[in-house]
Amino acid sequence: MNAFHGIALHPDTAAFLARPQRMLIGGEWVEAVSGATLPVVDPASGEVFCRVPAGESADIDRAVAAARRAFESGDWPRARPVDRERLLLKLADLLEAHAQEFAELEAIDNGKPVTIARHVDVALAVDFVRYMAGWATKLDGSTMELSVPLVRDREFFGFTRREPVGVVGAIIPWNFPLLMAVWKVAPALAAGCTMILKPAEDTPLTALRLGELAQQAGYPAGVLNVVTGLGHTAGAALAGHPGIEKVAFTGSTEVGKLVGKAAMENMTRVSLELGGKSPVIVLDDVDPAVAAAGAAQAIFFNQGQVCTAGSRLYVHRSRFDAVVDHLAEIASGMKMGPGIDPATQIGPLVSKVQQTRVLDYVQSGFAEGARAAAGGAAGEGPGCFVRPTVLVDVHEDMRVVREEIFGPVVVAQAFDDLDDIARRANDTPYGLAASIWSNDLSRVHRLIPKIKAGTVWVNCHNIIENVMPFGGFKQSGIGREAGRAALELYTESKSVIMML
Ligand code: NAD
Repeated sequence: MNAFHGIALHPDTAAFLARPQRMLIGGEWVEAVSGATLPVVDPASGEVFCRVPAGESADIDRAVAAARRAFESGDWPRARPVDRERLLLKLADLLEAHAQEFAELEAIDNGKPVTIARHVDVALAVDFVRYMAGWATKLDGSTMELSVPLVRDREFFGFTRREPVGVVGAIIPWNFPLLMAVWKVAPALAAGCTMILKPAEDTPLTALRLGELAQQAGYPAGVLNVVTGLGHTAGAALAGHPGIEKVAFTGSTEVGKLVGKAAMENMTRVSLELGGKSPVIVLDDVDPAVAAAGAAQAIFFNQGQVCTAGSRLYVHRSRFDAVVDHLAEIASGMKMGPGIDPATQIGPLVSKVQQTRVLDYVQSGFAEGARAAAGGAAGEGPGCFVRPTVLVDVHEDMRVVREEIFGPVVVAQAFDDLDDIARRANDTPYGLAASIWSNDLSRVHRLIPKIKAGTVWVNCHNIIENVMPFGGFKQSGIGREAGRAALELYTESKSVIMML
């Protein structure tokens, strides 16, 4: 396949798609034990364009055994921090060298605009791997002066060590397939863990290509294994596997709870990055055009399939109509098309299932009295398109206001009282992110501590930064990825007490 929707593919993308897809287990490219495969569907047309192995629990067993061998014997346990750093830097260089290929694979697999994939997904992934490479040589402990009152005639010395947690199972979603993969792979490998990566069934391609690049970079066999498969088979087998020490999950809150319970059975360490229903709060001093542009980016970026999507818009009543008018104009003017087309601003959603789910939510909003200021329907053609949608005349009890839609749908409401806005913003089971739009520093500073969310943006939204811890309050998850905090997820602290 040299072209997709009439757009020529990079020769590397075409070459990857021409290869039969296998999983990476113990350094070998293998089919599923069962021989079964899963279709990979183009969300812009609904057509199957390749197949990947349908890994199940027998495949997870093989991958866990391979990762265990690699963790306990061979070259990996002897890799010095500087070697782990170099390998990650090499992986980042390879990713960068293949940036266009990764962007195209992401665009045709997930549906997202190729320009976004190149300049956001792939660029952030390269930067993140480089950032995490640096941590391989900077993991440290502390020394302590000990008192030990019961043994007064001897001296003691205490120190702590950070050690890799062991074999890691990583389960990731389909919205940023490569980026979510490296958010787990890079800190785990920096810390000296070995791992099994299970990409989402809808978007398995870049994880498989990442596995190829890891081999090319020189990672020993079994350090990174990639098993494709369904969530309730391969994913569940991985989350509940007694042979892993840590499960790192990003996905929905519903599945996150299952993963957390399965992990707890084995006392497996667990981190969960889950859903959100993030508020965008516009105070009365903001230019409506600026606020609308910010709100559009907050909800329509990646077709709204972003855990931190600004899906609840609260605008001070004095600016509400103007902001909604501008936002509706932006929404209606966005160019819809297949992700691989560089002119596309809004691509299809990832799958028919997701399109139906999002449209059902919009219908439920209409049934409960909401009105669309823009969008509110599917796009044309067989692809999984949903028009950028702005819902008004909504109230706090509606499902569209309370539940995560995970599509390009924002609910807009006015507020009068700044003291009450924190309560309304927090009136959700989620607590992943929020943004505040205002140049009035004292009001902004008073609001920030009241917002129950892992990230609060001011005059921006969806800005992700390597050094900043990322994660959720409440039902948005447990643990923090990115920054130094990520290393804590992949290491154990060991206390050493020496009698001298
Ligand atoms: P999902 O929960 O359906 O699937 C996520 C992953 O879990 C997939 O790999 C899937 O195969 C696997 N899975 C499904 N059932 C499983 C089971 N029973 N046991 C183990 N694994 C299972 O989520 P999704 O639809 O792929 O992604 C969308 C969700 O992800 C949204 O809720 C979004 O908010 C969330 N998300 C969160 C973050 C974050 O950092 N907080 C980032 C991206 C996406």
